[in-house]
Amino acid sequence: ATPTAIMVGTGKGAENGILIKNGTALEVTQQLETLVFDKTGTVTQGHPAVTDVAPQAGTTSDELLSLAASLEQYSEHPLAVAIQQAATEQALTVPASRDFKALPGYGVTGVVADQVAWLGNLALMQQQQITITPAQQQTAAALAQAGKTPFYLAVGAELKGILAVADPVKASSAQALAALKQQGKHLVLLTGDNQQTAQAIAEQVGIDEVISDVLPADKAAVIAKLQAKGQKVGMVGDGINDAPALVQADVGLAMGSGTDVAIDAADIVLLNHQLTSVPTALALSQRTMRTIK
Ligand code: ADP
Ligand code: MG
Repeated sequence: ATPTAIMVGTGKGAENGILIKNGTALEVTQQLETLVFDKTGTVTQGHPAVTDVAPQAGTTSDELLSLAASLEQYSEHPLAVAIQQAATEQALTVPASRDFKALPGYGVTGVVADQVAWLGNLALMQQQQITITPAQQQTAAALAQAGKTPFYLAVGAELKGILAVADPVKASSAQALAALKQQGKHLVLLTGDNQQTAQAIAEQVGIDEVISDVLPADKAAVIAKLQAKGQKVGMVGDGINDAPALVQADVGLAMGSGTDVAIDAADIVLLNHQLTSVPTALALSQRTMRTIK
């Protein structure tokens, strides 16, 4: 495109709350065939809330939640914030914990009352060889099928219970994704969350393909693999985790509500943090390229 067309397109973008950081992004956006979406904070609101507290026999709900809050007190993960909030709302006393360690993609660990405890997903429990009975697995599966994210709390080798959070999808997500599908775009949901939860969210908003259980460090490799099929790939995300994938993508789009790291890594910033800005950006790119032909 001519410098003038790029300038006009960039200006139109700005008027619509779409910050285009470079001319190439404006040119390439209309060529994107596959669009990959981060789940938490991109498709969903990004503010999960605790919905279920399911202790094992011998533990009360309050005990389970306060133990969880004790382990999460030093974590900034959205799941941790949800747990901290629930414990505050219930006015629970949160026991002290030490030796906190975040386990990206898995959960957290720490020492509470001189015992090592683990809080996180099924993969973490398997890693620690904590036995999960079929009944417990069923509880977690039912939560996941409802679109909630279940996670497990174990003290030592003993499972103390299962908690779940829900993060509702943004009201505008389904409509925006339907518009993209109508334009023939292939839509992918990319997340560190488990397959069942991710599938349930994808179905709520009409996304075709789900790539779940992806470790933060592997998100960029997933984009590269899609590109290796010969497609131009756009990535839409908001988290620190998403930054390498935003850079790897042919065009990286960050939510304006996202972390600074994601905003820095992106080519385009969506200031209204709604997915409806994605079809708008595509249309803008199409118009820019048409002007110069
Ligand atoms: P996402 O792509 O949703 O941001 P993450 O890679 O941050 O996913 O986490 C993947 C999974 O690991 C979460 O769905 C959760 O089950 C588990 N997990 C990660 N961090 C925590 C935490 N602080 N507390 C509990 N579970 C966690
Ligand atoms: Mg996110």
